Amino acid sequence: MSTKNALRTIDAIRCAGKAADAYRTAQHAVREAQDEHGAAQAQLHHWHDHIHAMGGTDRASPAYSALLAAVQEHQEAEQKVRKAEARLQRAASTVQSHRPALNRYPTGRIRRRGTAVLLEHLADHPVDLVRAADLIIIQTSSGKDSLVAMHRTVAAAKAAGCLHKVRVMHCDLGSEWPGVPELARRQAERYGIPFLLVTPDGGFLGMVENRQMWPDAKRRLCTSTLKRDPTGPVITTWVRELGLDRQAIVLNVMGVRGAESASRALKARLALDTRTTSANRLVLTWNIIHGLSEQEVWQDIASNGLEYHPIYDTGLERLSCVYCVLAGPEWLILATRVCFALELPHPQTFAELERRIGHSFKQDFTLNAIIAAARMLDALDGPITWRCGDAVRRHLGPAAADQYLALTR
Ligand code: SF4
Repeated sequence: MSTKNALRTIDAIRCAGKAADAYRTAQHAVREAQDEHGAAQAQLHHWHDHIHAMGGTDRASPAYSALLAAVQEHQEAEQKVRKAEARLQRAASTVQSHRPALNRYPTGRIRRRGTAVLLEHLADHPVDLVRAADLIIIQTSSGKDSLVAMHRTVAAAKAAGCLHKVRVMHCDLGSEWPGVPELARRQAERYGIPFLLVTPDGGFLGMVENRQMWPDAKRRLCTSTLKRDPTGPVITTWVRELGLDRQAIVLNVMGVRGAESASRALKARLALDTRTTSANRLVLTWNIIHGLSEQEVWQDIASNGLEYHPIYDTGLERLSCVYCVLAGPEWLILATRVCFALELPHPQTFAELERRIGHSFKQDFTLNAIIAAARMLDALDGPITWRCGDAVRRHLGPAAADQYLALTR
């Protein structure tokens, strides 16, 4: 199947699924409206019979008021049934227009399976995928995985002669290590790709202050509200700028690797973004480095002389917020010691916020405890030190680090 046909089929399955869901919902609404109508009719008969049995209509009696209310309810229920039936009719005609896809993919399970097979096929042919796309957005944190995802996306785009389709977007939460937005921009500029910096209102600390709570693994509002939500409007603007008179194909590239966690291992290389997809854009999330190990990521960085953030040289393995709500105590203690070494204000700023809102940064410990532990370790071992290239040295050995430094100086 050609790439274009696969993309068309994915959207046809999506639309057919939506139509089938809408039909089921409309059927349910008709049943509900009919039940309500039946109950209203029973009430109407009840008060009608009651008044008849009482021998007539005393308009001032409570029974007469109840009869009037029952008449009103009955009329409203009739109207509801008519509306629900009209909606069902519309849904039925939409289902009819998707009949070929629904015959081929009749159930939700078969539709999901069919979509997954097509997406796997597309992910196997990245150059064709890039050629078929109208817009390729790289969402970068400027961390090592985003960096390699960008490098590989650019390689596929160059091979397809489509570098002009690629754009980079970075969300600055204001709580990351110094130099992150500037590095994200430099990483994009290396390939001559347009770069957009998004700064959500209030950033990470503003969100915590407003909610009087830190996010956690279950309520990861920092990523959903501050990183994911701003993406939709950006895609809308960029798709509008394309000025297409058909549905745009958008690839949303992320530096997600399966080896990072059990939940990430379950993600597909290419997935349909049902939240952002609409009639005018088909958005696919492209986890282009999903299959890479950490070692392979560093190999890509070293052999291509890609500029990574110096925070990796300190021993921290993720370029996240200075204090990440998902990090464990060891990581947070090391981050604090790095802050001490760099004379950064973050430990004090975060600890003050923790005190002010009266909510502990992590369920099991406070940031104050982390800072105290970091101070103790600094007192015992002295401040931590690191050298440029230590991250490559740690992962690939001294020769690779020397080669990397020679490439980047
Ligand atoms: S790095 Fe951690 S704290 Fe910062 S946005 Fe991501 S998950 Fe939230």
